[in-house]
Amino acid sequence: MKKITIIIPAYNEEESLPHLYERLEKLMDSVKKYQFEILFVNDGSKDNTIELIKEYREKDDRICYVDFSRNFGKEIAMIAGLDYATGDCVIFMDADLQDPPELIPELVKYWEEGYDDVYAKRNSRKGETWLKKFTSKMYYKILQYLTNVPIQKDTGDFRLLDRRCVNALKKMRESQRNSKSMFSWIGYKKKEVLYDRDPRVAGRTKWNYKKLVDLAIDGITSFTTSPLRISTYISIPTFILLFVYFIYVIAKCIITSTAIQAYQAIILLILFFSGVQILLFGIIGEYLGRIFNESKNRPLYLVNEYNGKKELNDK
Ligand code: UDP
Ligand code: MG
Repeated sequence: MKKITIIIPAYNEEESLPHLYERLEKLMDSVKKYQFEILFVNDGSKDNTIELIKEYREKDDRICYVDFSRNFGKEIAMIAGLDYATGDCVIFMDADLQDPPELIPELVKYWEEGYDDVYAKRNSRKGETWLKKFTSKMYYKILQYLTNVPIQKDTGDFRLLDRRCVNALKKMRESQRNSKSMFSWIGYKKKEVLYDRDPRVAGRTKWNYKKLVDLAIDGITSFTTSPLRISTYISIPTFILLFVYFIYVIAKCIITSTAIQAYQAIILLILFFSGVQILLFGIIGEYLGRIFNESKNRPLYLVNEYNGKKELNDK
């Protein structure tokens, strides 16, 4: 009998877990052809998440868990899941039921047909503003322009991966992880399945705060590299200043119908080139910071316990 591991990163999910367990139990009972392993990665939750998981494990030995020594973030929880998964394929799922477990049989069906990476693509982006859709579209466009690896739009981490994808991903040990681009990078036979993403069942999203920090700064935690980011910051007001001053000069020239004056042109040029230079420094800093982080070669995560056994972390 083939074994399917469902990897669920969980951070402060005590409110969602009962719903999740109920839905998963229903699913596992309806799909009899496979053996299941539900692998929770408790990402240093501060609530009762780990106690709940342990409770489930006591009555159901299909439940497994890895308990981190602290919060390491979802990306790291995912690689830990891959490390500890024992199944012939794995499925990533969020704990908040935004990814409907009922889609799993369909993912498995395509896996049986020979696909290695069956990913769920969000059908609609209902309830999202025009601006959000537009920025996300632009983001994908730019990202795709910058890389020659094909990027899958509107897909989260909800996907099924064959054992050979798992083994490939396990070899990628960089510390600043972006799973989405890694899934694209490994290649193999991919298949897309459409679904509607549900709203979270309970609890609150952990990303709002995190997303802001990640997108804008991406390194408050790695404070040693954030000084390198100073120039990126300085370049932004420089460009804003340039823009405002540019509009002002042009408007004034038009209104008073005079030619642009030398000092104005000089100020504009200085603002423009200093802006470009500071920005380039910032970009160099970003990469330097990454090299610094990778060169430390630290373990990606530390495990407190695995299925009740204290981990020695001496691998
Ligand atoms: N998560 C995690 N570690 C974190 C933040 C989130 O393991 O530091 C998990 C969380 O428990 C959930 C999944 O990642 O299972 C997605 O998080 P969330 O629903 O908050 O993100 P969103 O769906 O809003 O993007
Ligand atoms: Mg969510």
